[in-house]
Amino acid sequence: MDVWVEKEKCTGCQHCKDVCPVAVFEMKERSGADANADNAPEEHKWKGTTNADVVAKWKDVNDGHKHFADQNDGTSGGLSVATAGSACILCQACLIECEGECIVIHDDAGTEYRSIYK
Ligand code: SF4
Ligand code: SF4
Repeated sequence: MDVWVEKEKCTGCQHCKDVCPVAVFEMKERSGADANADNAPEEHKWKGTTNADVVAKWKDVNDGHKHFADQNDGTSGGLSVATAGSACILCQACLIECEGECIVIHDDAGTEYRSIYK
């Protein structure tokens, strides 16, 4: 299994980390050197700019999450990085909780699964 986050669409909500039963995700500083420590393709690596549609959708949503903050405070903020994608058991919990609809999973047969916010 391979898992990555399309970084330009991640709000930093931390839902993925909170629901994953096998600790695939870690929250990293947006400005940190390890913000791209998963297998996201080049066009989806973090380059310092968030997708404008995602910003427009989430910037004013007051749900207690630190959307688009550089650093994580233990509950939200920062960027999600799929540092342990090989542990994924394809429960799909993260896929329905991802605000940015930016998680991609490939199983060992090459089938792709993508997040769609519930
Ligand atoms: S689908 Fe994989 S990465 Fe997502 S929550 Fe389930 S085990 Fe974790
Ligand atoms: S659930 Fe999606 S938007 Fe939220 S932190 Fe994880 S990857 Fe980013």
